[in-house]
Amino acid sequence: MRPILIAGNWKMNLSRQQAIGLVEELLLQVDHFEAEVAICPPYVYLDTISQKIGHTSLALGGQDVYFENAGAFTGEISCEMLADLGCQYVILGHSERRHILGETNAIVNKKAFAALEKGLKPIVCVGETLKQREENQTTDIVLEQLYGSLAGITEKQAEQIVIAYEPVWAIGTGKVASPEQAEEVHATIRQTLATKFGKVTAQNIQILYGGSVKPENSKELIEQENIDGALVGGASLKAETFLGILDRLQ
Ligand code: PEP
Repeated sequence: MRPILIAGNWKMNLSRQQAIGLVEELLLQVDHFEAEVAICPPYVYLDTISQKIGHTSLALGGQDVYFENAGAFTGEISCEMLADLGCQYVILGHSERRHILGETNAIVNKKAFAALEKGLKPIVCVGETLKQREENQTTDIVLEQLYGSLAGITEKQAEQIVIAYEPVWAIGTGKVASPEQAEEVHATIRQTLATKFGKVTAQNIQILYGGSVKPENSKELIEQENIDGALVGGASLKAETFLGILDRLQ
């Protein structure tokens, strides 16, 4: 059985006080749920939030990272820095980074290797745009991103990776993929992982769904055979909605 993972991506949101308030509210209840729970705040709040979290079950993640270890890379953050602050996860290849900041599969791939080397679990995001879905390119696009992002990754390394299927048309739009639409892509991803890493490893890899997940739709999505949790944007910014997602899974 794969554990359910619910990860919150706060993106570039919340003041410092709001971030502290949110984590305090989450900590009051997070132990009541069976699922693994992670939050990915903006870099500048990681240290403060890490101290709040301490040794509780709430996991911490970065929203991105750079692949070099150190040096003249103005504005960038290394995997070692994230690990040092207590991060266990790092989101890689989010569609906003791919589409707004021009991140390629090759870059995501380098970041995945760098993260694994420092003991961080990459949450590798893949997903098609609305145009690509309408042109029946969903499978091609998702598999191209998957193969490119995971190029050269070994079976052993793959055990540490989480995949997030996030259809771009469903992110922050209120439009959610139907459980059947999502499950179809998740099943294809798992089959592909089985071809690449073997069936046993593929069965152990968590594949999250992301795209307008909220309390009202989380259960029916996560009940699908190949959906092992959610990467949550908007609904992770309020304790009520983030905890509501977890509550519906009980
Ligand atoms: C995301 O940012 O990964 C995401 C899925 O956002 P939202 O839940 O707001 O659609």
